[in-house]
Amino acid sequence: MPTALVARSISSFWRSCSSKMSSPKVVDMRSDTVTTPTVAMRAAMADATVGDDVYGDDPTVLSLQNKMAALLGKEAGLFFPTGTMSNLAALMSHAREKGDEIILGDRSHISIWEQGSISCLGGIFPRQVRNNPDGTLDLDELVSKIHPGGHDGHYCLTKAIVIENTSNYCCGAPIGLDYMEDLASIAKKYRLKIHVDGARIFNAAVALGVEPKELVKHAETVSVCLSKGLGAPVGTLLLGTRETIDRCHRIRKVLGGGMRQVGVLAAPALVAMETVLPLLGRDHENARRFATGISALNEFGLKVDVERVRTNMVLFSIEREDLGAGKFCELLEDENSTKSPPFLRAKMLPQGSRQIIRAVLHHQISSDDVDAVIEKMRNVLSIKY
Ligand SMILES: *Cc1c(COP(=O)(O)O)cnc(C)c1O
Repeated sequence: MPTALVARSISSFWRSCSSKMSSPKVVDMRSDTVTTPTVAMRAAMADATVGDDVYGDDPTVLSLQNKMAALLGKEAGLFFPTGTMSNLAALMSHAREKGDEIILGDRSHISIWEQGSISCLGGIFPRQVRNNPDGTLDLDELVSKIHPGGHDGHYCLTKAIVIENTSNYCCGAPIGLDYMEDLASIAKKYRLKIHVDGARIFNAAVALGVEPKELVKHAETVSVCLSKGLGAPVGTLLLGTRETIDRCHRIRKVLGGGMRQVGVLAAPALVAMETVLPLLGRDHENARRFATGISALNEFGLKVDVERVRTNMVLFSIEREDLGAGKFCELLEDENSTKSPPFLRAKMLPQGSRQIIRAVLHHQISSDDVDAVIEKMRNVLSIKY
């Protein structure tokens, strides 16, 4: 090929790349896990002092574990790659014999979204109790399902109760202090441990206006995600007594979660605690703003219960003959689906039915983004399909 032609084809190649690079704005509301590390987080990763964490030698990890333990009023903390592994290790430490059981909500993350790990890897039987729409477990039903032991060999032995706070499936509902008191008195009576799956415990604390440590004071173990609303790229911390955390340290190793110079992951989490944690309230305001915007689209077939939006999640439904949740989400994600601006790509997820859609707010979505997405929704909805 003559040189001039080669040059021209290279230049057209680059032009096509750069037109792709100036692609439209994406507002990703699928989850609060989609955040990307901030400049400060990346700088902290590059600068992190590290050591071999399997030997307990990584100062950055130790610092993160200690900070979070102090914030949640627990003796010790342990860094896990994921919340799934942290929940599993905590429950394996509470229910140690094969066939021991734990009580948990039928709409909990552990019941629905963790591949039954407590059964298939932990040998634990999951006794499910119905989740109320506010995320709580019905306490009468819960008590009726406890098998505290004794001479009757028919039953599993109940060892722990799991509460998820906020409750993911129940629109991010925060569970308050009064409920935790009632639960604690039951747990005490039957000598059961409480594990809080607190992936979003700080969202709960902010929404309820209480200290995070108050919310988990009756919990033997608490699991807190760093990579949800806090915006860190990776990780979950498990907090509890020194003794329990030491046991979980062994369990983490057998699950394959012992990592080495993991301070590079703890460093951005420390930045997240300092810079993103104080902003969670803004996500809740933006969630309300989004829900209020949706409620103004009622005439186009959208329905939302604005009062139910207490933290950073919004559940709404689309009730139209010509448009289901899946198709609606596809249209929102296509920048060219309408003729008028804004030409952005808004991402949300249909949740389990033809009509329900979930949107989650996080620190990389602004109130202007929310308004633009509402405008895009209005444009998409005003077309007949
Ligand atoms: C995200 C989440 C987890 C853990 O998720 P991983 O993706 O394994 O980190 C656990 N519980 C709840 C409630 C969650 O939202």
